[in-house]
Amino acid sequence: MPDAIDPINAVSQTAGTGSPIIHALFGGTFDPIHYGHLLPVQALAQLVGLNKVILLPNHVPPHRPQPEATAQQRLEMVHLAIQDNPLFTVDTRELTRQTPSYTIETLKSFRQELGEQRPLAFIIGQDSLQTIHTWYKWEELLDNCHLLVCSRPGYKSQLSTPEMQQWLEKHQVDTPFPLSQKPCGHIYLAATPLLNISATDIRQRHHQGLSCDDLLPPSIQNYIDSQGLYKQ
Ligand code: ATP
Repeated sequence: MPDAIDPINAVSQTAGTGSPIIHALFGGTFDPIHYGHLLPVQALAQLVGLNKVILLPNHVPPHRPQPEATAQQRLEMVHLAIQDNPLFTVDTRELTRQTPSYTIETLKSFRQELGEQRPLAFIIGQDSLQTIHTWYKWEELLDNCHLLVCSRPGYKSQLSTPEMQQWLEKHQVDTPFPLSQKPCGHIYLAATPLLNISATDIRQRHHQGLSCDDLLPPSIQNYIDSQGLYKQ
């Protein structure tokens, strides 16, 4: 597998625009990675003007059951999914940490490398925004990054309590422009394509011997078959 490039120090301005680049991270269990991860984030990158997105496979996800594929298998699937796509790179700091993959810790470690001034964003799906108040030290997230939220079918943009809705409205921006003007603190709800795909559904379809052809890249399907994954 090729080593991940170092996007943090590679470029500091978006070519042509003069705006500071936004360093964007996208964390997930990726068990397996699928088009519901890749396509909305590609659309988001276009909307916001991201020229690099760093995928962060987690080792021990704190909010959910443990993955079926091993950390190494999930990482290999991520590498295969992005091998011909220069938008994406991978960072393994969460995978190599033996403690739960708390996003706040990851953000702080990126923040330390980037310094206080450079814009840093964390990408999530709408379902994750709905439960963000359950994340460890969630109130500190926006002190370290912006949140970029991809649409996901079946999840509203309205949050579940008046307090959370107030928090969202306080930080929400309607256009991507302010994201490059501040290091952190904004939430941008992006109108990305709606893809009704989840890794849970893909694992279940494999258990049932059903095809997943339109749900994930062929290279991932071949890897799943060759490793005998999700058979139970
Ligand atoms: P699982 O079904 O195993 O819970 P998942 O498909 O939701 O997995 P994760 O790896 O848990 O995938 O998700 C990583 C991130 O990708 C999360 O922020 C999640 O909200 C987002 N995401 C996953 N699938 C989609 C989708 N179809 N559309 C938009 N965002 C998605």
